[in-house]
Amino acid sequence: MNNFIKSKKIITVLVLYIISSNFSYGQTEGSKKPKLVVGIVVDQMRSEQLYRYEAKYSEDGFKRIIRDGFNYKNTQYNFTPTATAPGHSSIYTGTTPAMHGIIGNSWYNRYENKYASSVEDTTVVLIGSKNQNKTGASPKQLLTTTISDQLRMSTNFRSKVISVSLKDRAAVLPGGHLANAAYWHDTETSPGYFVSSSYYMNELPNWVREFNKLEKSSKYLDTVWNTLYPIENYTESYGDNNKYEIVLGENSPTFPYDFKKLREKYRERNLEYFMIGFSPAGNTLLTEFAMDAIKNENLGSDEETDILTISYSVTDKAGHIFGPNSVEIEDIYIRLDLEISKLLKYLDKEIGKGEYTLFLTSDHGAVPIASYLNDIKIPTGVARIARYKDRLSNYLNTKYGEGSWIQNFEDDQLYLNRTAIFEKGLQLESMQQDVANFLVNLEGISGALTAYHLQTSQYNFGLRELVQNGYHQKRSGDVLLTFDAGLVQDDDSEIEVSSVKGTIHGSGYSYDTHVPLLWFGNGITHGESVRKVSPIDISSTLTMILNLQLPSGNSGYPLKELFK
Ligand SMILES: [Zn+2]
Repeated sequence: MNNFIKSKKIITVLVLYIISSNFSYGQTEGSKKPKLVVGIVVDQMRSEQLYRYEAKYSEDGFKRIIRDGFNYKNTQYNFTPTATAPGHSSIYTGTTPAMHGIIGNSWYNRYENKYASSVEDTTVVLIGSKNQNKTGASPKQLLTTTISDQLRMSTNFRSKVISVSLKDRAAVLPGGHLANAAYWHDTETSPGYFVSSSYYMNELPNWVREFNKLEKSSKYLDTVWNTLYPIENYTESYGDNNKYEIVLGENSPTFPYDFKKLREKYRERNLEYFMIGFSPAGNTLLTEFAMDAIKNENLGSDEETDILTISYSVTDKAGHIFGPNSVEIEDIYIRLDLEISKLLKYLDKEIGKGEYTLFLTSDHGAVPIASYLNDIKIPTGVARIARYKDRLSNYLNTKYGEGSWIQNFEDDQLYLNRTAIFEKGLQLESMQQDVANFLVNLEGISGALTAYHLQTSQYNFGLRELVQNGYHQKRSGDVLLTFDAGLVQDDDSEIEVSSVKGTIHGSGYSYDTHVPLLWFGNGITHGESVRKVSPIDISSTLTMILNLQLPSGNSGYPLKELFK
């Protein structure tokens, strides 16, 4: 081989290497990083909602992300409970409640004998609310770092992290411990301002005060909600008038929703601004606030990557009321698609096309309304916690003598009165097993795992694995329950499945665990994968894209298809 051909070959190999490495994330020195990472969480979005309403989506919203980006169609949560606070924490810490400690939206604290929210912090106050003395919120219960914390530390705090949502927990937890600011909507105080916490600041920045001055929440509540398209076109959902949805004040759960009229009613119960939470206008309000944040905080404007987290909550509040098969939810998704489209266009303009990397996922799904499932002959039912509690209490009193043996029993977690158990010289482990054996025979309960077993065995299949990934030794209960598929928990111990209205989430079944995961923008090529992945993989992926140290509790894996 002569030298000319040889060197030509070497050059070709070199060129190919350079070309291919330029298309790989984080593999070459100086590879281009996104100016801004945008994390979008659509609260309670089931995977199928990406496709079910596809015919009515625009070309520039969800469809643009799928068309130009990467779609992980088989994304499933790998823990229970599938709820907002654990979901958001897991997305941004790259691990499960067993490690990050956020075992629920709220949980019973056995050391302080109280039931408290995941972001409650009595040492801080709300900033910007008209109600000045309200307890603020902070991430102090979050035990590990987030991707946003890692970015802030790695750039010696030159990177900016801003997180926004209508819900406090959906803003605070994604921002981690080091966010510059988290903002959420003060639903309990008129006129529904965006607020923050003294954890982050002593007063709201000017742009937030200016935004609040516009009193947009109030303006949006003076509108009437009608379907975007003629209602007879909503063939993807069951009829508007049905017995499954919660009735919001009028006589039937039907369009139009006259918020101006409804707000009078809700004002008496101090829930006027809470209504923004289930109005499609709530998503518009949040998009407008997010766009203002991008502009006024100069996000993505310099060499250091910034992070903006946006969590759309309306889909969840409305989902609970109307259920996933309703015209209301369909309309909310069609309108949310337009908000996403508006946001993408804004990002193109402000940050630049291809200059930002975006992911879109959800914190959990939801089960269709139980009375509807019952009507269409899908297995369902009601788990009546109050009934379980009564029966267990009787059993324990008979067997161990009169006493308050149950300290707390909410949802799927049962806390025993350990003081009473130790005082009587009883064995905690055997009592846990006794309780589990009793409960698992009750109708609707499919499994009862004791804390002792969760500490001493390793489960790697099915619901038990999910329960274990959500189990935290100090924070979780003594017995953790799983219910039959399709069951919904209800506080009303007399309710029959045929009269259940509205729905919930929280289980380890696919209707709650299977969520969308889309990637789009800087460095993302078009493609799709049916490999089973989890939202906890998002943060390890971003760690590799941004060349950071993994979040402290990380247990996810980078999504390798994005690095080919
Ligand atoms: Zn949620």
